[in-house]
Amino acid sequence: MTIRTLSPEVASQIAAGEVVERPASVVKELVENALDAGAGSVEVDITAAGRRLIRVADNGAGIPADELTLAVERHATSKLVSADDLFRIVTLGFRGEALASIGSVSRLTITARILEASAGARLHVEGGMIGKLEKVGAPVGTLVRVEDLFYNTPARLKFLKQDATERRAIDALLTRYALAYPDVRFKLSEDDTLSLQTSGDNDRRSILAVLYGVDVARQMLDVVSEEEGFKLSGFISPVALTRSNRREITFFINGRWVQDTPLTSAVLQAYHTLLMVGRYPLTALFLEVPPGEVDVNVHPAKAQVRFRNPEKVFSFILRSTRRALLAYTPVPQGMTQNLWGSSSSRPWQLDPAWGLVHDAGWPPAANHEGSSLPSQPPSSVRPSSEAVQIPAPAQVPVLRLIGQIGATYLVAEGPDGLYLVDQHAAHERVLFEKLMAQHGKNSIPSQALLTPAVVDLPPASARLLEGQLIVLEHLGFHIEPFGSNAFQVRAMPALFAKFEPSAALRALVEDFEEDEAPLQNEIEARVAGRVCKRMAVKAGQVLSAEEQRALLNDLEACISPRTCPHGRPTMIHLSVDMLERQFGRKGPR
Ligand code: ADP
Ligand code: MG
Repeated sequence: MTIRTLSPEVASQIAAGEVVERPASVVKELVENALDAGAGSVEVDITAAGRRLIRVADNGAGIPADELTLAVERHATSKLVSADDLFRIVTLGFRGEALASIGSVSRLTITARILEASAGARLHVEGGMIGKLEKVGAPVGTLVRVEDLFYNTPARLKFLKQDATERRAIDALLTRYALAYPDVRFKLSEDDTLSLQTSGDNDRRSILAVLYGVDVARQMLDVVSEEEGFKLSGFISPVALTRSNRREITFFINGRWVQDTPLTSAVLQAYHTLLMVGRYPLTALFLEVPPGEVDVNVHPAKAQVRFRNPEKVFSFILRSTRRALLAYTPVPQGMTQNLWGSSSSRPWQLDPAWGLVHDAGWPPAANHEGSSLPSQPPSSVRPSSEAVQIPAPAQVPVLRLIGQIGATYLVAEGPDGLYLVDQHAAHERVLFEKLMAQHGKNSIPSQALLTPAVVDLPPASARLLEGQLIVLEHLGFHIEPFGSNAFQVRAMPALFAKFEPSAALRALVEDFEEDEAPLQNEIEARVAGRVCKRMAVKAGQVLSAEEQRALLNDLEACISPRTCPHGRPTMIHLSVDMLERQFGRKGPR
């Protein structure tokens, strides 16, 4: 092999690869340029998930006609002069690469006008070839059109995900920028349908409602904290509001959306012991630090940063979020909210000898990333070796109902002792098995709603749901798109007929994972598990004797009655033998 210098064309496509990975990265660069230009309004139009067209219009400062050609050249920037400036960066861009990169892998047209000029100028770049400057009429500001992204790099094109996924990335990006810049008006239209609009009136909580829905937005807690030039503001979720992944932990550092930051672990640490294992908070946090404290030039897409003093930032975040959390969260004395937590501090002591044993083979999805529990309880609640091991029969015996306690547990007697049943977990199990049994026979009875329910979802959730409509159809949900972010629920599984359709729909999207594409069966089981969880009776719900008995009967009929579909135990068994030992009637105490 001979060593050769790459042609400028190839070199620039390689460089572009680092900046422009997918349509959302183009949107990101163009929106950042608009914000750097001081725009008060940013309008984004997308066609075919950004493959056909990405158009970003702003009313910022614009670009002088005689600098337009320079703007689309590589390493041409107005934001940086010397290398020292890198540590004084207050703009989002600084490398002068974005327009050049985008122009080398698309057909780009940029039109701009500055206030002082009577007319604007337009320039076309195609596959890196810069055309002639034209004089055109234009409003003050900048308009960039990016057509046929990756038309000359077919390999890139192949790496793009389904349209719904690419659109979701764009939605997520724009809603986050809207949240970070509440004084800027944002508008996003996809295929001529408006999918996001903010007013620019500085009301972050109303933007939060666009992002997460009104309910969630209302519950989010405020964070405001300042120490030695470091400032943290924004929102964090209360402990009762969680997700099954870290994706909703959003961080902005000096106005820049930064993913993959150690600050995420600072937030998680603030929630430590307050959340169940495998559950994560939602946050939208904005950190302001003096520019000299942070190096933003460490990642090609500027999605990561490095701090001069990481420990200091880490502990500042940890303290600030923990304080905000505790201000709103009365923590029960010495008690964790997690059954698998330290057993000694439970109000009722969980003796290791008690029959807290898992069925083998279930749950089907318990070990999946994002499942809400560890596959094995920590050793503190595992039966110890000296304790009497109670074999766990897969089935439960016929139970005699004694009653309900705390509107949460059923108490029942079996031939071999006492059973405490968690009504929510038990009902989840019952619903899940019924649904999966019907599904196995390909016969989930579906019941049409008399009046179809229309449900509005936040754009990102809407994209997720769109991709899952077929799975849901198999499960007995008949749901149709109804406008850009709305859906019409026309039928539900008969099993859930008495439930609120909108609650069911929100339950479905709440925990959808991005790019969820395992085996079809597995998705269906997971979706089913999720719906059942939402539809099951809750702790704190008083049940009639009839309902209690029906629940026990249904549970007895289950194949795996001892765990809920997520792997939590449905019951605790106190065997006669164990009771006798505990009361000192038998053996050494
Ligand atoms: P960078 O943002 O890193 O400087 P870009 O390639 O994104 O590099 O942009 C190059 C230059 O073009 C910018 O420095 C800026 O001067 C100008 N520019 C780009 N987009 C806009 C815009 N929307 N409004 C005003 N100026 C812009
Ligand atoms: Mg830029």
